[in-house]
Amino acid sequence: MQSGEDASGTWSMRHRLAFGLALATLLPVLLFGAALLWGQWRDSRDTLLLRLDANARLNAGVIDDYIDAQQAGLDLLADQMAMDLSRAKPDLAKLLYIYPGMLRALHVDADGNVSLVRDARGRELAPPAGGVGGEAWFRWVRAQSRIHVSGVHRQDAYGDEAVVTISAPVLRGNVFDGALQAAIPIESFTRLSSESLARRDLQLLLLDADNRVIHAAPGLSFSVLDDAGPLGRQLRALARPSDREVRVRRMPGLLHDGDDAYVAAVRLKHGWTLVLAAPGAVLRAPLLPRLLLLAAMLGVTLLGVGAAIWWQRKMLSDSLGYLLASLRGYALGGRIDTSVNARLPDELLPLAEGIGELGARMNAAFDELNKVLEEREHVIATRTDSLRQAVAELDRLSRTDALTGSLNYRGFLEAGERLWGEAQASGKPLSVLALDIDYFKRYNDLYGHAQGDSALRRFAGAVRSALLHSDDVLARPGGEEFTVLLPATTHAQAMHVANRVCQRVRDADIAHAGSPKERITVSVGVATLQPGDTEVEDILKRADAALYRAKAVGRDTISD
Ligand code: GH3
Ligand code: MG
Ligand code: MG
Repeated sequence: MQSGEDASGTWSMRHRLAFGLALATLLPVLLFGAALLWGQWRDSRDTLLLRLDANARLNAGVIDDYIDAQQAGLDLLADQMAMDLSRAKPDLAKLLYIYPGMLRALHVDADGNVSLVRDARGRELAPPAGGVGGEAWFRWVRAQSRIHVSGVHRQDAYGDEAVVTISAPVLRGNVFDGALQAAIPIESFTRLSSESLARRDLQLLLLDADNRVIHAAPGLSFSVLDDAGPLGRQLRALARPSDREVRVRRMPGLLHDGDDAYVAAVRLKHGWTLVLAAPGAVLRAPLLPRLLLLAAMLGVTLLGVGAAIWWQRKMLSDSLGYLLASLRGYALGGRIDTSVNARLPDELLPLAEGIGELGARMNAAFDELNKVLEEREHVIATRTDSLRQAVAELDRLSRTDALTGSLNYRGFLEAGERLWGEAQASGKPLSVLALDIDYFKRYNDLYGHAQGDSALRRFAGAVRSALLHSDDVLARPGGEEFTVLLPATTHAQAMHVANRVCQRVRDADIAHAGSPKERITVSVGVATLQPGDTEVEDILKRADAALYRAKAVGRDTISD
């Protein structure tokens, strides 16, 4: 899973964008770089193969020509000696003069006895004792009657220099009549070649037919006269004649420094092998500047990609952050400010507009909802108010006597309890008047029940007019009996109120033919709160008792 998607399956736009951008830019750079390197490597390799091929064949030709030239000289001299042996001495000196590469030249008779030896300066040297009849080259030349080119060796008889000898038969007619031999120091073969090759980073190796080293450039892990071993045999097997295209191989173990070498081998005349080796570093070296170029390209591309990713990410974060802030602002009761949409990229403008439209619609919906709620609240408040009033009215009615408007029995009980509690709390007096209309049964009998009710209403009005304090309470607990509760009223004051009540009832002048006074009168019992009273009932009982006494003394009177 690439960055951009986490374990929960969510993904990030900026991570995917960054990944895509990096892929789209780095991949081509890498591919281009790889193709560049590959092309460079192939070019270098092809060039190297061409150089190896051309130089190997050229140098093989030079060495072959050199040996041919030496052979030609010896051949010519051998022909002359066959005709006139007496010329051997001066001719040998001339040969050495003409061919300065030769170190030494000698003449051997048909039996292998050395008759004459001259060195490079033409001096005559003492011949070795015992002759050369037993040596391999002599027997070969005698048997083959052909030129012989030796391998590399140290010529013990005349010093310890490493030489190659070229031997030619002296033939009188077709009869072997001795031989001529020239010793050539091995540097003669390679002096010129090896220097110019070294300048071109090419290492020269020359092996003789016996796998011994004739020449090895300093960079190679061989020494002159060494047996070249398995590596030498491998190289000789690889060698081809100089007139054919050489085969180039990559081989380890040839160079001192352990680097692999690209190798071309050519087979020379007389069985020698010429090898040219180029270190692998020759191929790698041109790659380095390209690698550096590629690294620089990668670096620049990475910087560009990084900057692009940073910019994209900032744009995205800023835009989405703005939209988010708009939504949050809206959620907290604000409104989306569409005037700053210019900060957003074109792609996100529809989103911002959508959010704006959504906000507007939600605002309208809120307004509508608030209106409906307000209306509902108003209706509910109105209804609640009406209900409260109705309940209060019901409550009042439940305590009120419908006929007279005074408190009924229930209202009387509550008022009694309330005033009793207040009197207890304040320590103020509380008085009670117990009223009973006189001869009211007769009234009903005389005038009828409906007239009786009307008389009761008028009686209540007369009593109420006698009560001057707003706190005074008039109640009709039942029938034609009334009770007046007088808070903060002393007994004496209560007696005054009772007199006033009696007087107002008389003044009302409600005709009553069944009464001795011919009008409705009232008897009143007065009682006041006394120490030792434990409840309002105590006062009421005393008031009732007083009323009973008032009735007993003749009615239309007051008793306490
Ligand atoms: P007294 O009190 O002077 O001794 O004589 P009384 O006739 O008033 O005695 P009683 O208490 O026995 O009679 C009360 C009468 O009052 C009986 C009833 O006909 C009458 N009464 C009671 N309540 C009402 C009422 O609500 N309306 C009417 N019209 N009459 C009522
Ligand atoms: Mg009565
Ligand atoms: Mg009565």
